[in-house]
Amino acid sequence: MTDCIFCKIASKEVNARIVFENERVVAFHDLFPAAPTHLLVIPKQHYTTLNDVPASEALILGELMTTASQLAADLGVAEDGYRVVMNCNGNGGQSVYHIHLHLLAGRKLTWPPG
Ligand code: IMP
Repeated sequence: MTDCIFCKIASKEVNARIVFENERVVAFHDLFPAAPTHLLVIPKQHYTTLNDVPASEALILGELMTTASQLAADLGVAEDGYRVVMNCNGNGGQSVYHIHLHLLAGRKLTWPPG
């Protein structure tokens, strides 16, 4: 997708503080962190929303999750706890239309979210 900021981060056209990358996923610091640790884990392939991931491609969703849990372990926040969340469309609070998992940690997170 030519006009997608996260595609541009994945292709290195736009700078980001990347903490992990493999052939399929990239993880980087959120530009406006909502917690002491706030990373975004994205697939390199563009999916606009969670609604656009067919069941036949569900493996990538698992990899986003396991990447997040590995990063939480690497950052030393796994024991204290963390949250992973994916927002979908307007009511879900999605603002960037390339799917991404938020990894939030480093403070007591409240529930339910606003
Ligand atoms: P959403 O609201 O769930 O779509 O989350 C989008 C996230 O992307 C927000 O937390 C933004 O702060 C973050 N964000 C937007 N643009 C950039 C960027 O260029 N680099 C890193 N994070 C970004």
